[in-house]
Amino acid sequence: MESSTDYDIVIVGAGPAGLTAALYAGRSMLRTVVLELGVPGGELLKTEAIEDYPGFEHIDGSKLAELFESHARKFGAEIRPFTSVTAVRKGSDGVFDIETEEGVRFRAPAVIVTSGGTPVRLGVPGEAEYAGKGVSYCAICDGAFFKGHTVAVVGGGDAAVEESDFLTRYAEKVYLVHRRGELRASKILQERVFANPKIEVVWDTAVTEIVGDGNGLVHNLRLRNLKTHTQWDLAATGIFIFIGFRPNTGIVEAHVDHDDMGYLRTDANMETSLGGLFAAGDVRAQLTRQVTTAAGDGTTAAIAAEKYLTARRMGQRGGEPVIVATGGYAV
Ligand SMILES: Cc1cc2nc3c(=O)[nH]c(=O)nc-3n(C[C@H](O)[C@H](O)[C@H](O)COP(=O)(O)OP(=O)(O)OC[C@H]3O[C@@H](n4cnc5c(N)ncnc54)[C@H](O)[C@@H]3O)c2cc1C
Repeated sequence: MESSTDYDIVIVGAGPAGLTAALYAGRSMLRTVVLELGVPGGELLKTEAIEDYPGFEHIDGSKLAELFESHARKFGAEIRPFTSVTAVRKGSDGVFDIETEEGVRFRAPAVIVTSGGTPVRLGVPGEAEYAGKGVSYCAICDGAFFKGHTVAVVGGGDAAVEESDFLTRYAEKVYLVHRRGELRASKILQERVFANPKIEVVWDTAVTEIVGDGNGLVHNLRLRNLKTHTQWDLAATGIFIFIGFRPNTGIVEAHVDHDDMGYLRTDANMETSLGGLFAAGDVRAQLTRQVTTAAGDGTTAAIAAEKYLTARRMGQRGGEPVIVATGGYAV
């Protein structure tokens, strides 16, 4: 392992939350490094167009990512792509040790986790090929691109049911495709769906393939009825998949408070239950997950981390005990 590299703040993940935190930390003259397992941009890189980031009526996700990155670099933040964090540990001296798959070790008294989350995939042919071009994991983000279209939603929980209802604002017809004969969603959401004439539930059915025109546009879904085993095609230009979302939190080797789904709980300053460890963006337990909220969280986390570092230098913070995770859900 390469010798340790010391910083004031290590930020894990270079999505909107991480890059905004880097901008603020760099501008506060803190020695800041952002560790990113791929290239900077996070989910923006999977988003064709953003139409709800203030100041930009329409901007390509990749262009916005480029602007976020160059802005953070301008203020002196170091950004290390292709650096995958495997463990974040707080030592008895209150300093965090951050290990990476590439073998470089980083040390810093404050860490901001902005590692986002990963939607659970269907794992069927066509899903990866048409991701962002008809296959979506975010109705708020992509619904408006399907005005007047027929779309399908996959899933049977709260997210699938709520988003089916939401999508009828734009789509002419929404098919809710579910593997079972009843929905898992709360009764009140189910009633809303059953009362909506634009939604038709396709029961006991699995998607086996997403079929497109070869030029990057979805035109139908191949389905299989799990009771009768009959196969059929459903014409739809969009497919929204809501079969689960997992926060990327497995790297922190201590007990940190989290909600039932594993999202990190923070206080209003984005600090987790582990002193000096902050969380921002999609990885955090909160109402919504958008670029604006990720950027806002990143801002607060960086400013709060700076205050934490000042308090630590004055001996007022940094000595909080670490509870090491022992089985169960370790985040
Ligand atoms: C298809 C799609 C369309 C969307 N459209 C919109 C939209 O129109 N408007 C809107 O506001 N929002 C939209 N969103 C949501 C928005 O993109 C997210 O809310 C936002 O990107 C969250 O930012 P984040 O920084 O918290 O996380 P992310 O963007 O997920 O970034 C997390 C980063 O952390 C990195 N990472 C993870 N684990 C590690 C590790 N162990 N080591 C190092 N790096 C790690 C990841 O590679 C990633 O780059 C969309 C999302 C998707 C998927």
